[in-house]
Amino acid sequence: MDAAFCTAWLEEAAAAVADGRERLTALDSAIGDGDHGANLDRGFSEVRQALAAGGAGQPLTVAGVTLIRKVGGASGPLFGSALRAMGKALPAEFTLADFATAFQAGVDEVVRLGKAEEGDKTMLDALGPAARALALAVREGAGAREALERAARAAREGAAATVPMVARKGRASYLGERSAGHEDPGAASSAMIVDALAAVGARW
Ligand code: ADP
Ligand code: MG
Repeated sequence: MDAAFCTAWLEEAAAAVADGRERLTALDSAIGDGDHGANLDRGFSEVRQALAAGGAGQPLTVAGVTLIRKVGGASGPLFGSALRAMGKALPAEFTLADFATAFQAGVDEVVRLGKAEEGDKTMLDALGPAARALALAVREGAGAREALERAARAAREGAAATVPMVARKGRASYLGERSAGHEDPGAASSAMIVDALAAVGARW
């Protein structure tokens, strides 16, 4: 695997976020301020442009820096820092095991910056299980297609599991108990982005 795999993921993720924009807006309207779909869609459009401009650097690092610079709200810096950390953790050519390690490094960066833990009803509730599922699949000897699909399934299930949770971090936490009963928008977008990864893995 190499930079082309990362670029393919980012392009697939940009398309997924564009497709999911209205759903993310609706989720963030229920328990936040309604900007999550627009924030991420704009951010990933900027990522596409940055990649098309073809500058030097690992595509994930380029994407991360772009999201940090261009996307406001909580999610831009968090997703951006995660991608940047992943990019920095990856050599030019890498194995699926390296990719799993880098993915975990990205999740660790979200924890370090956002100080949330799983169960707080955030993107971590999708990303944490995805990282563990990916690492487990690698240890069990799964190929990229299966391992990334298992990660995507874990992210989807993790996002769905945020529905009954009460938010303890981010804007939704201002609602207290009233945040329960809605899927967390950042967990939903994370699941879309990991799904995009599985889609690329399936044809790699
Ligand atoms: P904002 O809340 O500033 O409007 P967005 O709507 O773009 O930003 O993103 C909201 C999402 O960010 C939430 O659904 C949640 O998943 C995620 N989030 C917020 N705060 C944190 C945090 N401290 N750690 C991890 N994720 C967080
Ligand atoms: Mg918002």
